[in-house]
Amino acid sequence: METTNKTSFVLTENARTDLQKETMARIEADGVCPFCAEHFETYHTEPVLKKTKNWILTTNFSPYGDGKAQHHFLFVYNAGHINKPGEMTDDARIELFDLVDELSTKHNLEGGSILMRFGDGKINGSSVEHLHAHLIVGQRQDENTKGLKVKVGYIPK
Ligand SMILES: [Zn+2]
Repeated sequence: METTNKTSFVLTENARTDLQKETMARIEADGVCPFCAEHFETYHTEPVLKKTKNWILTTNFSPYGDGKAQHHFLFVYNAGHINKPGEMTDDARIELFDLVDELSTKHNLEGGSILMRFGDGKINGSSVEHLHAHLIVGQRQDENTKGLKVKVGYIPK
């Protein structure tokens, strides 16, 4: 485990739901990283679908699009506290895309989007500063759908 003197790993300003805000308040009070392996299951309420050497595969407890997408999987780095893609081992990079491929096969995915924010949450709009990635699968576009939009950073108002 990499040591760090950071005391806050969550960005309440990037929370989207009341559940996230309440959970973040507890995390802030505890002063821990909620995505580090030893704390993960204290705060994360969704089932762990799979653990590999480097990743925890689960679902997002506050999914994008208010839960109206087909799937919103979350991959949380499980081999220490890192927050940059360059800090992943080669094994971790391969495992991540193998997991995406596995989910794609299992759920017969016809499409989807992978999103990985990294670094400073004040730049990238993330709510937790610990390397993680999202696999989001929306619904098929038709006259009753609209685009599923997510924050990936900031621009001037
Ligand atoms: Zn962490």
